[in-house]
Amino acid sequence: MPTYARFDLAFERGEGPYLFTADGRRYLDFAAGIAVNALGHAHPHLVAALQAQSEKLWHCSNLYQIPDGIRLAERLVAASFADQAFFCNSGAEAVEGAMKLVRRYHFAKGQPERTRIITCRDAFHGRTMTALSAADNAKHLEGLGAVSPGFDHVPYGNMNELRAAITAETGAILVEPIQGEGGIHSADPAYLQALRQVCDEFDLLLIFDEVQCGMGRTGKLFAYEWAGVAPDVMALAKGLGGGFPLGAFLASEKAAAGMTPGSHGSTFGGNPLAMAVGNAVLDVMLAPGFLDQVQATAKTLRQELSTLVTRHPRVLAELRGTGLMLGLKCVVPNGDLVKRLSENQLLTVGAADNVVRLLPPLIIEDAQLREAVEIIDGVCRDWPQNTA
Ligand SMILES: *Cc1c(COP(=O)(O)O)cnc(C)c1O
Repeated sequence: MPTYARFDLAFERGEGPYLFTADGRRYLDFAAGIAVNALGHAHPHLVAALQAQSEKLWHCSNLYQIPDGIRLAERLVAASFADQAFFCNSGAEAVEGAMKLVRRYHFAKGQPERTRIITCRDAFHGRTMTALSAADNAKHLEGLGAVSPGFDHVPYGNMNELRAAITAETGAILVEPIQGEGGIHSADPAYLQALRQVCDEFDLLLIFDEVQCGMGRTGKLFAYEWAGVAPDVMALAKGLGGGFPLGAFLASEKAAAGMTPGSHGSTFGGNPLAMAVGNAVLDVMLAPGFLDQVQATAKTLRQELSTLVTRHPRVLAELRGTGLMLGLKCVVPNGDLVKRLSENQLLTVGAADNVVRLLPPLIIEDAQLREAVEIIDGVCRDWPQNTA
């Protein structure tokens, strides 16, 4: 179905931060499958893990124990605020699972009426009906009729409106620590801290959607770590499987109190192939020095891009974001810039608010950063006068 406005481009293979077309053209990939290929393409450790597992067992149902899933859950728990994990296949499913957990939490406490969730404008939580209803993006909801009930929308970063939206039926607050699709808006640490406080005050569960900003993207394993604030529940996907479809929601033991046998499930979620790759991703991300390297690389990229923003005010307005989750707010139409960059063999991805996102794989090296910066510099320098 024609649901995507696709580029006239197809890739045959990838290697690290590069993608190759069948006729051998090489592209530097700063879209990374929209923050999915966190370790680049064809990472040898991930390939080996997938190959080895593929010869043993692909799928065996959650009727049985899946030892690699227990191991992945234990490692995610050890590396985060959480005590428990549920595996699924995508970000939207992780967000929806987190919403079910909220209802079950209050139900188990004898307050089944507390089903409403406060969410933020310009948010993105996925494409299922309920995830769309949570985000309330008019463009995404067009033609879909009645939205799922149970969401109260407030402006991102505004505590007064958020407090005013709390009622006796509110059960949780759901936010992205950095809004990705919305245009790379980073939450102020003070905002995340205030959300934590208000959740503690009213016995609300705090859910962070780290589907895009988690898994090392900001230079810490999870973006919330920068603010020193732990949520009660967190949705993950994208980078978690490094390209294999894998999502998860994690929760504290207290928040997961209502998740009893039969309260949630998934046929494919947590299958042995996904678990083998998820563990391989963590092998790389948790290795000593990996995240320090991401932070160092991010610092270099930030410096270089700031220079470009100053140098090309006709084209670029502002640099946003944290770590390797960066956005260039444009003066020219963002889609035009994405197109010209791709014509110069640099892949990026647009976001709302006229932003071009730069989401390079976390394994990117300084020489490859410089290559990207030179391409952006050249495209901006040659930008036609009349369209600026
Ligand atoms: C991409 C994304 C989702 C949805 O993930 P899918 O795997 O496409 O369902 C949810 N939340 C955020 C913040 C995302 O960036």
